[in-house]
Amino acid sequence: MINDIKLFNELVELLLQEEKKHPVATPIDTDKLYQALDLKLNDEPALDSDFKKILSQLIVSTPKTASTSFFNQLFGGRVSKSILGDLLAVMLNNSMYTYKVAGPQVGIEKTILNKICEIIGYGTESDGTFAPGGSMSNYMAMIMARDRFNPTIRSKGIHSKMTLYTSEDSHYSISKNASLIGIGREQVRLIKTNDFGEMLADDLELQIKNDIALGCEPFFVNATAGTTVLGAFDDITSISKVCKTYNLWLHVDGAYCGAVIFSKSYKHLLKDLELTDSFSVNAHKMLGTPLTCSIIVTQNKKHLYQSFSNDAEYLYQTNDDEFNLGKTSLQCGRRNDALKLWTLWKSVGNNGLESIVDKQFYLADVARNYIKSHPDYNLYSFDNSISVCFNYKNISAKTLCTLLYEHSKLMVGYGTFKEEEFIRLVTINTLVEEHDILNFFKTIEHFVDSNNMIETISNSPSDC
Ligand SMILES: *Cc1c(COP(=O)(O)O)cnc(C)c1O
Repeated sequence: MINDIKLFNELVELLLQEEKKHPVATPIDTDKLYQALDLKLNDEPALDSDFKKILSQLIVSTPKTASTSFFNQLFGGRVSKSILGDLLAVMLNNSMYTYKVAGPQVGIEKTILNKICEIIGYGTESDGTFAPGGSMSNYMAMIMARDRFNPTIRSKGIHSKMTLYTSEDSHYSISKNASLIGIGREQVRLIKTNDFGEMLADDLELQIKNDIALGCEPFFVNATAGTTVLGAFDDITSISKVCKTYNLWLHVDGAYCGAVIFSKSYKHLLKDLELTDSFSVNAHKMLGTPLTCSIIVTQNKKHLYQSFSNDAEYLYQTNDDEFNLGKTSLQCGRRNDALKLWTLWKSVGNNGLESIVDKQFYLADVARNYIKSHPDYNLYSFDNSISVCFNYKNISAKTLCTLLYEHSKLMVGYGTFKEEEFIRLVTINTLVEEHDILNFFKTIEHFVDSNNMIETISNSPSDC
C-alpha cells in the first residue's frame, strides 16, 4: 500500500505539471489509440517499471478537465477539500446501505440532505438520497410521481396512457427515463419555450387539457433550473400553479444550476421552490466536487420508501430504517458520494459555497461584457446564466470548436437554440479566473486570425 501511495503522489505531481504545460492534451485519433498506448491485458503481470510508464503515458494523454482551458462540459476544475473527502471515501470504502456498515458516514449523508431541505424550505417530512447522477435523480423523481399517482403500478405494471411534461429545452434524460419506467417516449409532451428558453406555463396547461380530453392521464411535470444549452431557469411560480390545478407532481431538475440555492444573490431564480414535490442538484457541476455527486430531495419521505424500499433480511439486521439508507436508495451497494461534499461544505461553510456560485455568474458577466464590446462577436445568451453562447466572425461554431480541440488550443463545445448554432462557453470551471476568460477569447481570436486557420476554416465543407 505505502509504495502505491508513493507512486500515486508522483503521478499526481506529473498530472499537475502537465495541466500547466499542456492544458489541452494532444488528442489521439480513435483508430490509433491501441497503437499509441499499451492498454492490453496479458497473462503475465506487468513489470513495475512498465506499469509506472503506462500510467504516466495515460496521464499525459487523458483530457485535462481541471485545466483552465477546459470549458467543454457542465463541470470542470478541482476543489481540493472535496478531492480530499473523495480520496478518504475510497480508502474507507463503505457501502451506504446500512448504519452497521457505514456508521457516521450515514450521519454525514443525512446532515447534507436535511440542510438542503431546510435551505429550500421543504417541510419537516422531507428527505432525500444520493443518486448516481442527475439523470438518475430525475429517474427517481419520475418513479415517485408515478407511484403516488397510482400505487398499484409497483406490482401490477402500467395499464393506462400516462403523460408527462417537460420543456423542449430540458435534458434528454426526461424522455429516456419515460422509456425506462414504462411510460413510453411518445407520452412525453415537449412544452414550448419563450425567447429566453423558459417553459411556457400557458402552453403547458393547454397540453394538459388536450391530453385529459383525449383520455390520457397527466401525472408529472419537470421544470429545469439551468437548461443544458442556455442555462435558463423555468418559472416555478407559474408552473406550480398549473400543477396544483391538475394535481401533478412537480420536479425541478437542478442538475446544472440548482446550486443557486446557496446564493443570496441568485436564489431568486428558484423562487417558490418550496412549492414543488422534488428537487435535484448535482454538486459535481456548480460546486465542483469530483464526479458524481447528485442529490434528490422530496417533500415527503414516504414517497421515497413507497417507491424504493424492499425488505431484505440478509441486509437489514440492525438499527431502524431512519439510519439504513438502503431503504430509500436506487442501488443496493452504494459508494459514499456524500463525504466529498461534506468535507468541502464543512471547510468553507455556507458562505464559501455561496462564493463558488457567485463567482461563476460574475465570470459569465465578464464574458458577456467582452462579447458585447467586441463587434466581431454575436451574443445569443442572457443575463443570469453561466452558459455564454456566441459566434465569432460568423464562423461555424462546430468547425471552430473542432479545430480548437484538434490543435490542442481549447476544450469548448457548441449548442443550438431555436435553429441558431453557437459556441457555448460555460463558466463553471472552479479554477478559472477573470484572466482565463479573457485569455479564452484571445486564444480564439489569435487562432482564427492566423492566416493559416482562416484558410482551413473557409475551405471547410461544414462552414456554410
Ligand atoms: C447534467 C444534467 C443532467 C444529467 O446529469 P448527469 O449527472 O450527467 O446524469 C440532467 N439535467 C440537466 C439539466 C443537466 O444539466
